[in-house]
Amino acid sequence: MRTDKPDARTTVQPSRLGTQPIGKVAEVASGVYQLKVPVPIPLGFVSAYLIEDPDGWTLLDTGFDYPDGRAAWEAGAASLGLDLRSDVSRILVSHFHPDHLGAARWLQGLSDAPVFMLEQEIDHSRLVWESDESASSLVDFLISNGMHRDLAEEAGAGMRANLELPEKIVSLRAGDEIPLGGSSARVVHAPGHADYQYMLHDEARSILFAADHVLLKITPNIGLWPESLPHPLVRYLRSLTDMRGMGVNLILPGHGPVFHDLEGRIKELLRHHDERLEIMLGEIQDRPRTPFEVSGAVFRETLTLYERCFALAETLAHLDHLVLEGRARRVEGEALAFRTADSSVAP
Ligand SMILES: [Zn+2]
Repeated sequence: MRTDKPDARTTVQPSRLGTQPIGKVAEVASGVYQLKVPVPIPLGFVSAYLIEDPDGWTLLDTGFDYPDGRAAWEAGAASLGLDLRSDVSRILVSHFHPDHLGAARWLQGLSDAPVFMLEQEIDHSRLVWESDESASSLVDFLISNGMHRDLAEEAGAGMRANLELPEKIVSLRAGDEIPLGGSSARVVHAPGHADYQYMLHDEARSILFAADHVLLKITPNIGLWPESLPHPLVRYLRSLTDMRGMGVNLILPGHGPVFHDLEGRIKELLRHHDERLEIMLGEIQDRPRTPFEVSGAVFRETLTLYERCFALAETLAHLDHLVLEGRARRVEGEALAFRTADSSVAP
């Protein structure tokens, strides 16, 4: 889930692998199949991966649970000769967002396979999807960051509804090695887009299942939400920097094209956030502005309400980062606002 439009300055090229239409399956590595599951949001699709193992199939990420998604799963699995009712041994879910976790309960109901998430992400999912307080804390959060109450209430009702968690969720930990497709993959913690998202790194085959951590054409949404750990952008940028030299040559992301040049894409993403920080700093130069005002100026394209919430959370993450760097300061008022640190005029 993200709000950015395609970056015209992207030079990393998409792969010729995984170019099938939405709803279809393609083999992207030996025994690894990508299913483009449709999603009912502007993003178009989420990429699920189906990996053939000697003891059954592993599914990675699931899409939203809605009729078109289920139909794509049924048809995609059938095209591989995979019976969702008897051939699935594990369901891996990279993070708690509904386009990844949404259909896990339905798939588990069919297959009886366990669902695996990072330990802390299981708790986080329960907090977000099963607590009544979550929707009201989202509304308060949106209002306190400058969104009008009516809009915030509409967003709160729409964003925190209707996700039932799978019954059996098993914990993974960063560093775990799991058998995958006749090879093995290491669980890599990938914070920023979600605090406890994970990727899978198959070192022997130089493959990275990147979830929503590193995408091509679109930049992952790095947002500060009411339940987020503090300073998500610092953790994201640090994680990207740590990934340099990882030596993978096939990146299988959660959205958008498959690609090969991880180093190149990391460089582009780091540059993107540098530029975003400068733009946001420019927006708070003359007077204090709320994160909602800044997000309206920076994300100029018409966004759905759902996307405007992500734009707001992303803006807040960047403004928070500017404060951390000593370049901006918070101005507490009826709604939170930010202004440049060097401004001498009292707010
Ligand atoms: Zn996501």
